[in-house]
Amino acid sequence: MARVSFTIDGRSVEAEAGENLLKVAHENGIGIPSLCWMEKLTPSSSCRMCLVKIEGQRAVAAACATAVQEGMAVTAFDEELEDYRRTTLELILSEHNYDCGVCQKNGECELQDLAFRYDLGADQPKRSTVASIWKKTPMPVDRSSPVLTYDATRCIRCGRCIASCDEIQGKQVIDFVHRGSRSFVSPEMGMWSRSSCDGCGECVQACPTAGLTEKPLVERFRSFEVERRVRTTCVYCGVGCQLDLWVKGDRIVRVRGAEAEPNRGRLCVKGRFGYQFVDHSERLVKPLIRKDGELVEAEWDEALDLVARRLGDIKAGFGPSALAGLASAKCTNEENYLFQKFVRAVLGTNSVDHCARLCHAPTVAGLGRAFGSGAMTNSIPELADADCILVTGCNVTETHPVTSTYIKNAVRKGAKLIVIDPRRIDLVPKASLWLRQKPGSDVAWINGLIRVMIEEDLVDRAFIAARTEGFEELERLVASYTPERVEELSGIPAEKLREAARIYATSERSAIVYAMGITQHVTGTDNVLALANLAMAAGQIGRPSTGVNPLRGQNNVQGACDMGALPDVYPGYQRVDRPESAEKFRAAWGVERLSPDPGLTVNEILKGASEGGIKGLYVMGENPMLSDPNLQHVEEALKALDFLVVQDIFLSETARLADVVLPAASFAEKEGTFTNSGRSVLRVRAAVPAPGQARADWAIIAELSTRMGYPMKYGSASEIMVEAAALTPIYGGISHARLERETLHWPCPAPDHPGTLFLHGAKFSRGKGAFHPVDWIPPAELPDEAYPFVLSTGRMLYHYHTATMTRRSVPLNAFAPGAYAEISSDDLAELGGEDGCKLRVSSRRGSIEIPARASPRVARGTVFIPFHYAEAPANMLTNDALDPVSKIPEFKVAACAIEVVK
Ligand code: SF4
Ligand code: SF4
Repeated sequence: MARVSFTIDGRSVEAEAGENLLKVAHENGIGIPSLCWMEKLTPSSSCRMCLVKIEGQRAVAAACATAVQEGMAVTAFDEELEDYRRTTLELILSEHNYDCGVCQKNGECELQDLAFRYDLGADQPKRSTVASIWKKTPMPVDRSSPVLTYDATRCIRCGRCIASCDEIQGKQVIDFVHRGSRSFVSPEMGMWSRSSCDGCGECVQACPTAGLTEKPLVERFRSFEVERRVRTTCVYCGVGCQLDLWVKGDRIVRVRGAEAEPNRGRLCVKGRFGYQFVDHSERLVKPLIRKDGELVEAEWDEALDLVARRLGDIKAGFGPSALAGLASAKCTNEENYLFQKFVRAVLGTNSVDHCARLCHAPTVAGLGRAFGSGAMTNSIPELADADCILVTGCNVTETHPVTSTYIKNAVRKGAKLIVIDPRRIDLVPKASLWLRQKPGSDVAWINGLIRVMIEEDLVDRAFIAARTEGFEELERLVASYTPERVEELSGIPAEKLREAARIYATSERSAIVYAMGITQHVTGTDNVLALANLAMAAGQIGRPSTGVNPLRGQNNVQGACDMGALPDVYPGYQRVDRPESAEKFRAAWGVERLSPDPGLTVNEILKGASEGGIKGLYVMGENPMLSDPNLQHVEEALKALDFLVVQDIFLSETARLADVVLPAASFAEKEGTFTNSGRSVLRVRAAVPAPGQARADWAIIAELSTRMGYPMKYGSASEIMVEAAALTPIYGGISHARLERETLHWPCPAPDHPGTLFLHGAKFSRGKGAFHPVDWIPPAELPDEAYPFVLSTGRMLYHYHTATMTRRSVPLNAFAPGAYAEISSDDLAELGGEDGCKLRVSSRRGSIEIPARASPRVARGTVFIPFHYAEAPANMLTNDALDPVSKIPEFKVAACAIEVVK
């Protein structure tokens, strides 16, 4: 873009041609006032405060809606413009409840700032020539939302909230109602609690006054009482949103979305309002030791000595293979690095795993084989620039809310959205095509798409020839997947399948987005391989805004995998059975020997416990008693252990069964890094002190290790990262010091490497991309006469994983207080029930009672249950049949029976 030069009040200014005049003025320190403008929104020019004169133009112009041009001469300040602005401000203030003393925004209000600037301070009504009318115009105050209050008497009708909800979050929940001085902002249905508002709070963050305010969550505060604002990373999902935690005393009083990658200020309801758990009264504050069957408080020395002795005894008595550890996708990279080091170097086994086994193990296995790297190929914000996005097996608005905003932004710009999902998820109304497949038919429809692309000559032959291998074999296999056969297998109409193939293959930049609807099957790895085949066949990979993008579930599940919290690989996916890797780590860690045998996975560890082979288990921040399939079996397994130690922030369902419980610090109380779904390594920073005697997980591991005769003397998390980076080539150039200055995506092999935004640009990580022909096979358990429904489980917006944190955050619980089963109203009527009635849902493994929610989202013959609720644990019902390659259980398909409880 060409540079232009022009003048503002006689001062020479340079900018890109076409840039926004108000933005350029601000960047050059010229404070043209404005109330309605935000850089990331389409200018509305509604407040009229930024009017300027431009030489040669008859009328004044709004600076926020003016593009800069070569040679223009702008007058930003003269007596006439300032008089005009003062009068405009007086008019705005006349309609405004100007009682600043009791206003929550006192001290951080843009209107108050301008009132002071134009000498219209607290005595404004006396000074102003315009009569104050706000008291005479009855205006509503809506307190019905769990997270925000709308006060029309303090709203200045700038429209920033409306545009933020629409343009940034893609939700269109709110708009102006009425006209003139009686107009105000209203959600659909006239009330926040009755609207589709999901509480993301984007509108609150955009509001320049106290029109929209957060409900005071932990205590009232005024902005000038806030002692520090600490930039950190959200602890919930794998988007990795950057947050500013506002701290007063030792309490977090507010969370704001940071203007940084990957979220650019955006947050979802959990990130913005789900932090009350941090200082919840049920936090663990002292170690607990089981005595006479009860968990009782103990001192650290006693607890750590006991853990060291018991683990040591088991190792001495039964050998290292009787021990195992579960690391945590909630903990930092540094903690996961240290945990797997402890299990390998001190306990002497590779049996370390974590919940990635339950979500994206097939991604690691499948994309690793196809591309050489089992991670999201592109970064999250790139989705906003895609021309076609194929979303499958992923209810992204609920599971990865901020990622969904980028998808909606792309659709707003004209991208085609294809949703392929058994449920009518919330993205469907925005989609060009929604294909509802039968659960467990994914390989069939993906092969069908490739077959159509071959038949219609839509495959990218040049890309296939230059960049891949094995296409001929795939071509032979998919030949039998005619759209008509695929229709029989998947239920997707043949014509719709053809249409989807054409859109995906012919768009300039097509991205695939998937999650656990693809991976949690006995064919999870096959499903992932099939998607990789699809992207390579169309040449839709290795460029910006394309690729195969698995949305990782937990905040640091990517990092926990990268750091080697897996039984077959050291940090950086270096295989434990490769002698060079084993020697490298053995030498670096200074131990005599490391086991060359891959260890056990989560499921195998639990199986081993119930069969007696595993006797001691160290669990850091995981809760298998709610997250794993077939819970009855999990409980039996944990109870069969000789020794269970659990390190956590709350007494979780799993911790209740432990012999020793160690109190850990939460994300807001420690330093480190998380790696988000898009491979971006992000800083985690301590904002408040840990409660009681709780300690950072890394400090606990180091202390335990030292007591077991292998001293770990780290002074800080950053020291641990130095060691981890030196041994992990994809993290080789990453350090806390660099992350203070820049955003880095791995691979980042050296301190001077800029990181890698999208993978497989010039070549695949494995050299040539490998096609893997995969044939469709049915799910492990299909409905029959005794169990006629298909049960699927998953996440919902307001709770996270086993809900230990979200259920201790009042606003999140207010939105989603209890368990439910989504079922079609036709099925419900046939069963003799109605919305809200109690159902008994049973599978071959167990039975739960749960309220029914009649929902148009699910197809007939299927039922969906979120797995977060301990009182109705969906995983009591799920099938623990495993994908043979990745060992993920088939959470997404289980046969069940449903009856109405009278
Ligand atoms: S909280 Fe979010 S969804 Fe609700 S109105 Fe505001 S921006 Fe829209
Ligand atoms: S989208 Fe994910 S990372 Fe972002 S605020 Fe929500 S839960 Fe946190």
